[in-house]
Amino acid sequence: MIQKDIDSLLQKIKKEYQVFAPIRKKGASFIEKIENGKTVDYSGAIPFDSWKFLFFPTQEILLNENFKEPKVNYPKICAWGMNVLDLKALGLLDLVFEDDPYYQKRRQNTLAVGLSAGAPSRENFEDFKIFSLNLEENVLEHVPFDIFLEKMKDGKFLIYSGSQKGQRILEKNKIRDYENIQFAGLIQEEGPDKRMLELQQKMKKSFNNKVWDELDKICLACGKCSIVCPTCFCYDISDEVLAKNEVKRLRKWGNCFYPEFTEIAGGFDFTDTVKKKIHFWYEHKFVRIPKEYKVPGCVSCMRCFKVCPVAINIIEVLKKLDKSSPARKK
Ligand code: SF4
Ligand code: SF4
Repeated sequence: MIQKDIDSLLQKIKKEYQVFAPIRKKGASFIEKIENGKTVDYSGAIPFDSWKFLFFPTQEILLNENFKEPKVNYPKICAWGMNVLDLKALGLLDLVFEDDPYYQKRRQNTLAVGLSAGAPSRENFEDFKIFSLNLEENVLEHVPFDIFLEKMKDGKFLIYSGSQKGQRILEKNKIRDYENIQFAGLIQEEGPDKRMLELQQKMKKSFNNKVWDELDKICLACGKCSIVCPTCFCYDISDEVLAKNEVKRLRKWGNCFYPEFTEIAGGFDFTDTVKKKIHFWYEHKFVRIPKEYKVPGCVSCMRCFKVCPVAINIIEVLKKLDKSSPARKK
């Protein structure tokens, strides 16, 4: 298929769905609701912000004043142009919120359209090897999507369907030249990622490593890394008085860098230093998430590095940890 066919498919999907897609602005890509398909960025660049706000809003009402689930008409949303790393992150959110009715209702009304535009450069590839490979050979079998667009070097597209919903849309729009991919779960056939398991061992009991003391001195605990991270899913629940004295139960994004995150009754805080906060963030991604879900808690998108005001690079942190781990020194 050529670009014109892809534009036409997008226009048809737009009649049914609100479409969000990466838009190129001032040298970077941002996810926005689009009115015009011509503005979509098909370069395959990772957008500055993550897609998670479409599936897991920054704030939502869980219970209304009668302590009943509010009646919400979840809009039909199309996430158009999600790269493979973001689909991996979506796969993790699907696991985390498997039994969450709010997430599930929103998710059912979402159409996830993936996009790839060539393999990453060799240099990046070597870096990514540390904890998450970008494009494994059969990666499309291990990420959730409805439709996937693979942009080839000659500008043409290969089309894949990854669900019945995606297949229905392709058929409805008389697109016959596509391949069906059966989702086989997030974990590869050979089992959990070995690099993830190695890293998990190195991270465990690493709290006394000087890496965390160095980060303690430079990290500002601003929490930007967690906001843009597609796999950060922690949240706070609170009962708040809104307009007309109505009390509602709200769920809002949590952030392990914020003071209230681990504060308990009496004012005690389990992560009362920057060192504890940043260690906690890494430990969640590389120890606790792999333990619970058998997949890495990081998809190596590097958004956290791009937004960090003091340029803390997660890959460099992991390399330092790797070099100074007791296992490595032997
Ligand atoms: S963005 Fe950088 S400075 Fe801010 S909390 Fe994250 S690592 Fe620390
Ligand atoms: S590279 Fe950073 S922003 Fe991307 S998934 Fe990993 S921790 Fe999150």
